[in-house]
Amino acid sequence: MASILSVQNVNKRFGGLKALDEVNLEIEPGTVHAIIGPNGAGKSTLLNCFVGRLTPDVGTVTFEGHSLIRLAPHEINQLGVSRVFQTPEIFGDLTLLENVMIPYFAKRDGAFSLNAWKPMAGQNDVRGKAEEMLADVGLGEKHAMVANSLSRGDKRRLELAMCLVQQPKLLLLDEPTAGMARADTNNTIDLLKTIASRGITMVVIEHDMHVVFSLADKISVLAQGYVIAEGAPNDIKGDPRVQEVYLGGAEI
Ligand code: ADP
Ligand code: MG
Repeated sequence: MASILSVQNVNKRFGGLKALDEVNLEIEPGTVHAIIGPNGAGKSTLLNCFVGRLTPDVGTVTFEGHSLIRLAPHEINQLGVSRVFQTPEIFGDLTLLENVMIPYFAKRDGAFSLNAWKPMAGQNDVRGKAEEMLADVGLGEKHAMVANSLSRGDKRRLELAMCLVQQPKLLLLDEPTAGMARADTNNTIDLLKTIASRGITMVVIEHDMHVVFSLADKISVLAQGYVIAEGAPNDIKGDPRVQEVYLGGAEI
């Protein structure tokens, strides 16, 4: 099957540090693809190369046949790629509803300005869509709250609603359960499973093995900028190289 996202020979240096070294990756449509690896392996750097925050020194990233190299983040977003970063990026002083309406307009119009947006926020159809997305992630009751007042887990859910309102084809998640308590993590796993079941392709960076093995169809393991192993969860679990590099020899 043709890949939805194809990464070929991507290299990225920060000064003397090789953060990504000849990375190749094929993401198949309709799958959940996890990228795991120890801290500093290059996972976030790789994700940033998918969304236009970083440009690889060498190599290509292609989404549905479009090269993403040198496209601006909003252009990549308009092609159908939405992302949740490692550090929550929400509008803390705005309500949840406003937070979800902003990415809707940003995707539709390719750019966003608060002045242009305010008069449009009254549109009932958009408001309705935003309410629906908040209900979808379990935040329907809280739509009028200010985003800063949410718990960490709820902020993550809000970010997901902000992605889903854009109806992405590809959803990129950088450590979606970071800092969550177990109950919140389990809720997030269920939510991500529901999203995956709708056919949205997902790339999930995650350090929590419980999350990875609950969700992933395929796993790529990064270490020091290299993809050292790739395969189905059961193959990865038993791979001695992965156990060695990723967990210092401990069982996954
Ligand atoms: P991971 O997400 O797997 O923990 P990162 O992609 O964040 O790893 O980082 C990979 C390596 O690149 C690390 O050694 C990190 O310190 C370095 N790095 C990441 N971003 C930058 C940057 N903007 N400038 C310099 N070094 C960076
Ligand atoms: Mg990271």
